Amino acid sequence: MGKIKIQVEGFKCDRCGHEWIPRSKEYPTICPKCKSPYWDKPRKKKKT
Ligand SMILES: [Zn+2]
Repeated sequence: MGKIKIQVEGFKCDRCGHEWIPRSKEYPTICPKCKSPYWDKPRKKKKT
């Protein structure tokens, strides 16, 4: 066996850029680092 690359599903906070792998299968409600509930919400774009 050589070196392999394992890919797992993770999440990335849109606010602070923190990346983590969830322990439970439940969708995280907040970012574990900055505690933002809007971690998965993209920043608002200006409407044209
Ligand atoms: Zn965050």
